[in-house]
Amino acid sequence: METILKTQQLTKKFGDNLVLKGIDSEVQAGQVIVIIGPSGSGKSTYLRCLNLLEQPTSGQVFFKDQEINELDEAHLDQIREKMGMVFQSFNLFANYTVLENVNLAPINVQHLDQATANQQSLALLEQVGLGDKATATPASLSGGQQQRVAIARALAMKPDVMLFDEPTSALDPEMVGEVLNVMRDLAKTGMTMVIVTHEMGFAKNVADEVWFMDDGQVVEQGTPEQVFEHPQEQRTQDFLSKVL
Ligand code: ADP
Ligand code: MG
Repeated sequence: METILKTQQLTKKFGDNLVLKGIDSEVQAGQVIVIIGPSGSGKSTYLRCLNLLEQPTSGQVFFKDQEINELDEAHLDQIREKMGMVFQSFNLFANYTVLENVNLAPINVQHLDQATANQQSLALLEQVGLGDKATATPASLSGGQQQRVAIARALAMKPDVMLFDEPTSALDPEMVGEVLNVMRDLAKTGMTMVIVTHEMGFAKNVADEVWFMDDGQVVEQGTPEQVFEHPQEQRTQDFLSKVL
């Protein structure tokens, strides 16, 4: 199996605050990893270190066997193109249509011609159930629809892995399901995914592996069955007793 992402003894400090305490982790091609854990445990920082949005304090980050934590920005940008990221806030460009938002990176970064970009973006909008919204503006869409556009936009760069940081946390409850369904469908296509979420039902149903993070460490990891039904660590048991 191909390793897509790997960290070795990854640490991150903000000032004196040691937020990641030496994380060894591996993500294989096609795996869906769901990271759970309390607020402040370092989940976002870990994700942001994977694509070097945060510079690790020590340790290594590998993307497909290449150590990337020492690369210069120009090379990093090339690598980051291959890691799609979806955040809690969708950050669509308000002055562009939905189609133009998805087209932006393929045209400006990959230099696709307009017709090819349109065709690819429309297919992606179909994939996330928004084929009829190409000419709409972001403001006319619901939060769930905007987040699905953000997913299509990330997919437009044909990433090797998709990183999701609480993609449904900012949504009204009735819109959470449509976004999770798009993510579930994406998982079925074989996309490698690392997902931070508080949606435990989704984690149980879709994850190949669940990682429980607490206090800057991956405390426990295993299949959903192992982590949810038979947690070995007291900290995992305490967390699950609060959220399940
Ligand atoms: P989680 O995503 O699990 O809630 P975070 O990774 O966001 O946790 O945060 C972990 C810790 O790092 C928290 O104590 C947070 O305050 C701190 N932290 C995160 N980002 C920064 C930053 N840019 N500057 C200073 N401290 C930060
Ligand atoms: Mg977070």
